[in-house]
Amino acid sequence: AQTGQVVTRFAPSPTGFLHIGGARTALFNWLYARHCGGTFLLRIEDTDRARSTPEATAAILEGLRWLGLDWDGEAVSQFARGARHRAVAEDMVARGTAYRCWSTREEIEAFREAAKAEGRPPLFRSPWRDADPATAPEGAPFVIRLRAPLEGETTVQDEVQGAVTWKNETLDDLILLRSDGVPTYMHAVVVDDHDMGVTHVIRGDDHLTNSARQSLIYRAAGWDVPVFAHIPLIHGPDGAKLSKRHGALGVDAYRDMGYLPEAMRNYLARLGWSHGDDEFFTTEQAVEWFDLPQIGKSASRFDFKKLENL
Ligand code: GLU
Repeated sequence: AQTGQVVTRFAPSPTGFLHIGGARTALFNWLYARHCGGTFLLRIEDTDRARSTPEATAAILEGLRWLGLDWDGEAVSQFARGARHRAVAEDMVARGTAYRCWSTREEIEAFREAAKAEGRPPLFRSPWRDADPATAPEGAPFVIRLRAPLEGETTVQDEVQGAVTWKNETLDDLILLRSDGVPTYMHAVVVDDHDMGVTHVIRGDDHLTNSARQSLIYRAAGWDVPVFAHIPLIHGPDGAKLSKRHGALGVDAYRDMGYLPEAMRNYLARLGWSHGDDEFFTTEQAVEWFDLPQIGKSASRFDFKKLENL
C-alpha cells in the first residue's frame, strides 16, 4: 500500500437507493483510506438536476451510516461547484487545451453521416478546433470542447486492470461545458477529484473508458492524473449481470430483512477482494489487510443464499 497522504472518495449519483455495487465501491474506498491512514471523502454527484433527488441523497447517506462507512468532513455537492467547473473550462480555453465550438446539432449530424458514408469513424471533428473564434456567429450558443490529441495513444495504468491503451483517434473532443453552462459528468468529476485532492479513484470498471478521457482532461488542465483502480462488476450466481431477478439490489432491503451491518460489510468486502482463504474477518482485520493488489480481475458473484448463512 501507498504511504503518505492517501485520499479516496465515493461519488454516487443520487438517483436511487444505495445499490449493492455502490456499497461495495464505497467500502473498498473506505477500507483503503483507513488502511493507509488516509482520508475518505464523499461527493454527491447531483449536477444532473432532472435525475437527482434529495430523497436519494438521504437514502445513500443513511445506507453508508448503517454500514459504518464514516466519511471525513462534509459531503460535497457537485452541483454547488458549478462556478468552479465553468472557471476551469474557461481556463483551459485560455491555455489552448480546450476551445469554443459553435457547431449546431444539424451540422454535427451531417458530419457524422458523411463520415459514415466515407467509411471513417463517426466521431465528430469540430471545424472550430482550428477556426478563428472571431468568425463565430454573434451571440450564438456554444459548448466548450477538449482539444484531444488526434494521434498517438492514451494509456491508463490501472491498479487492477494493468496498463490499458486507447488509440487517440477513437477519443473525440468531448464536451466539457454545455451551452447552458452546465458541466458534463466527465469534466465535473475531474475538477472535483483534483480540487478534493483525491489520490486514488477506486470505482466500477464500467468507468474504465472514462478514465482515458478523464486522463486527457487532467493533462489539459495541467494537473496530475490520480491512481485508478477499476473493480470488476458484480454478477449474480448465474454469472449474468446482477439484476433484480437475483434478489434485492438495495442495501436498505438487507437492513430491513434484519441482516447485521457487520455481516453485510464482511460479505461485500469479499466481492472482488480476498485475503487467503479467510471467509470471516472483523472490520479491524479487513482494514489491516486491505490492499489494491488483492482485488480480483474477474467479476465477482453475489449469491444471496450465501449471505443468508452469515
Ligand atoms: N457518479 C458516478 C456513478 O455513480 C461515479 C463517478 C466516479 O466514481 O468517478 O456512477
